[in-house]
Amino acid sequence: MADHPTIDDFMDGVKRRNPGETEFHQAVYEVSSTIYPYIADKPKYHKWEIMRRIAEPDRVIIFRVTWQDDAGNIRVNRGYRVQNNNAIGPYKGGIRFHPSVNLSILKFLGFEQTFKNSLTGLPMGGGKGGADFNPKGKSDAEVMRFCQSFMNELYRHIGEDIDVPAGDIGVGGREIGYMFGQWKRLTSRFTGVLTGKGLEYGGSLIRPEATGYGAVYFMEDMLKNIGDAIEGKKCIVSGSGNVATFAAQKIVHRGGKVLTLSDSDGFIFDEAGIDLEKINWIIDLKTKRRGRISEYTQQFKSAKYFEGQRPWNVPADLAFPCATQNEIALPDAQAMIKNGVKGVSEGANMPTSQDAVHAFLHANVLFGPAKAANAGGVSVSGLEMSQNAAHITWKEGELQVHLRDIMTGIHDKCLQYGGMPGTKHINYVQGANVAGFVKVADAMLAFGVV
Ligand code: NDP
Repeated sequence: MADHPTIDDFMDGVKRRNPGETEFHQAVYEVSSTIYPYIADKPKYHKWEIMRRIAEPDRVIIFRVTWQDDAGNIRVNRGYRVQNNNAIGPYKGGIRFHPSVNLSILKFLGFEQTFKNSLTGLPMGGGKGGADFNPKGKSDAEVMRFCQSFMNELYRHIGEDIDVPAGDIGVGGREIGYMFGQWKRLTSRFTGVLTGKGLEYGGSLIRPEATGYGAVYFMEDMLKNIGDAIEGKKCIVSGSGNVATFAAQKIVHRGGKVLTLSDSDGFIFDEAGIDLEKINWIIDLKTKRRGRISEYTQQFKSAKYFEGQRPWNVPADLAFPCATQNEIALPDAQAMIKNGVKGVSEGANMPTSQDAVHAFLHANVLFGPAKAANAGGVSVSGLEMSQNAAHITWKEGELQVHLRDIMTGIHDKCLQYGGMPGTKHINYVQGANVAGFVKVADAMLAFGVV
């Protein structure tokens, strides 16, 4: 067999070509550290440079977004769309509006999305986009003007068979509505060019719930595989946005007890449990009143608020990080392991740092990585695309069944590729990466050198 470049050679190249993009390096390393051992005896993937090609986005679009605030000031932000890979379907991935958005973060997300979308079994490639715009504290009219200006450039790069964006941090139903309205106005067309749309104009039932529900289903499948269940388990959840609140809801449906939720200012700990009524109050607080999680303690006296902290020191059985990247560092993982956490299901993208992931795997904690555990959202987005293309609307029951089946299908693929010889343990990180890789890589081989 010919000598192949080592993972170190490969990573040196990635770092050289993408200087300073630390989140992107982290994501590429996390995937390739499991892919390189898998392809060691499969020369075709080396010969055709599949990993180097997947780690170089097909295209990156960067543009100015100019808009006017309520006081009449001219504001300038930077917009992006990273079209990472369309080997198995149109680019697909969310749009993030957050002041921290930069090229490194969007390239990491677009790269991850490629493997995640492959795992769903649906025909979707990987992409991601966004802007360094902070919707917090902006009026509805300002958010509308920003979204319209963002779409004034983005519209020429997307389409229902080209690239289909969706929501992410800072982009929910309101923002999707403003962007879809502008796209329709610019193109005079009505198609499924965005997902996460309102039900009145082509959205799918259960899309808002899908990512959070899916993360809980994935945990349920990991536990079932070892003869256990969510019922009766104490759960710590971070975030209080779309993913976190619906994960909390499904945990309660399954008989678990939710102890925490958070935002970027701090977390609340409610020893009595955050039940469905309290979760609905939070959904209303966050989506309609755009309030802060600290307000929860004024409403529910059983809770305490911890300013500037994350919930990982609260003793629990299961953890659901659902806020943002790198929110669990090594000391957090060590505290969780010491406190007896048995399972982690990543609702957010890359919420666990690399050394924290290793600590969980080393301690045999069931660890569901984001690209598997949070794939429920993009799966229902894929189903929204199918409904739009066929001009039909599926009923909630049908969609619930599809989502549950897709999550079990992803879990099965992880079992297939994540078995650890000589042990009963499953390495879900390896399983998800390899299963996601194989489909994309084989499609790329079929196309030759393009
Ligand atoms: P939302 O904007 O609805 O909520 C994000 C939550 O995370 C908020 O509570 C926010 O607090 C908190 N948060 C954001 N940034 C930070 C930070 N730097 N430190 C601490 N807390 C933070 O976003 P989503 O729920 O949609 O997304 C959450 C995660 O899930 C992201 O990683 C996203 O990529 C991932 N994801 C989302 C999908 C979806 O369908 N929406 C699909 C798959 C993955 P605050 O209000 O203070 O900013």
